[in-house]
Amino acid sequence: MTYLSERVLQIEEPQTIGMSRKSRELKAKGIDVISLSLGEPDFATPDFIKEAAKKAIDEDYSHYPPVAGFQELREAIVTKLQRDNDLTYQPNQILVSTGAKQSLINVILSLINPGDEVIIPAPYWVSYFEQVRFAGGIPIVVETTMETGFKMTPEQLKENLSDRTKLLIYSSPCNPSGAVYSDQELSSLAKVLRDHPDILVISDEIYELINYGKGHASMAAQEGMFDRTITINGLSKGFAMTGYRLGYMAGPADLIRACDTLQGQFTSGSNSITQIAAITAMKAEVSQLSYMIDAFHRRRDLALSLLKEIEGLVTPTPDGAFYLFPNVKNFLGKRYGDRVMETSTDLCEYLLEVGHVATVPGDAFGIGDHIRLSYAASEDQIREAITRIKKALQNLES
Ligand code: PLP
Repeated sequence: MTYLSERVLQIEEPQTIGMSRKSRELKAKGIDVISLSLGEPDFATPDFIKEAAKKAIDEDYSHYPPVAGFQELREAIVTKLQRDNDLTYQPNQILVSTGAKQSLINVILSLINPGDEVIIPAPYWVSYFEQVRFAGGIPIVVETTMETGFKMTPEQLKENLSDRTKLLIYSSPCNPSGAVYSDQELSSLAKVLRDHPDILVISDEIYELINYGKGHASMAAQEGMFDRTITINGLSKGFAMTGYRLGYMAGPADLIRACDTLQGQFTSGSNSITQIAAITAMKAEVSQLSYMIDAFHRRRDLALSLLKEIEGLVTPTPDGAFYLFPNVKNFLGKRYGDRVMETSTDLCEYLLEVGHVATVPGDAFGIGDHIRLSYAASEDQIREAITRIKKALQNLES
């Protein structure tokens, strides 16, 4: 017997947050844990954006902002989408929210009726699955593999469509695999979708800036897709502004209106200081942020070269985001004393409790045989963490 609603009881804590909590608990006991479980840049927000936020405080941006976001910010987002993505939106097609996470739930709650099916390629970002279930939708998980670079093929998409399919949600660059869909790959998916005009797409592009050279492609730019794609992006990753909490969506004006109404009842407009800082962020040149991207690139290469030295671990090279997603199949079924590594969750718990490195199990992202390592950490931390992982894995017995 509980007084909690069935709705809330069915939501699970994201395993990413669960791992961070467990590693904090160990740290509080004085254990030196290295965290490679975090989904956020370890950089501070760039100074030129901090200055804009300070100025906003001094200029008394302390009142309720418009629910959809300040007009000047929406215009700056329109300009950004034209400049970087070749997408032509009007300000009334933009809604600013408290993080991309809120943008996502706004869209999902505005589109999904109970029983609607939503295609989610796995590995997927943890909240897609839970948010869809929360809305009464049925997640149709399409497992991708290392062999296809963790990208859903047009054949897989076709096989999983039904007359109840309402939506496809994916991220590119992808959390957790780091996979980046090329223009050509999106075009092949769009070709399938053109035969099913009622299906919408959420294209989560929050890692757009963290891309190591292949170039970013948007689903909304594909033939026939502009009017049925919701492009989601925000400040958290590329601008190192996770705590500022600002995300945005661009899409059909009637959907934006619906999300505006929903958000108006739940949270109202996103933080006004953050919104003013976001205007400066949107106008930034990529060169003002490239020191972070360059550092992530160097760390990716460092982590990859160290992981390659671990026998039995297979680590694909990701093109974006700041995660590695090694395959740990060769270690499943092995044991440490009477502790058996049945699943990637068991393995991550072992790596945390015995190796003192926090990672996230692939189980959390819908693919069991992998673990996610975030390299949003210093090079010294990466070196030490991988040394510990290597030792812990070598200590496992068949
Ligand atoms: N989408 C993806 C793929 C993410 O990885 C995250 C954060 O981890 C988000 C959305 C949410 O971002 P925000 O901090 O803007 O809510």
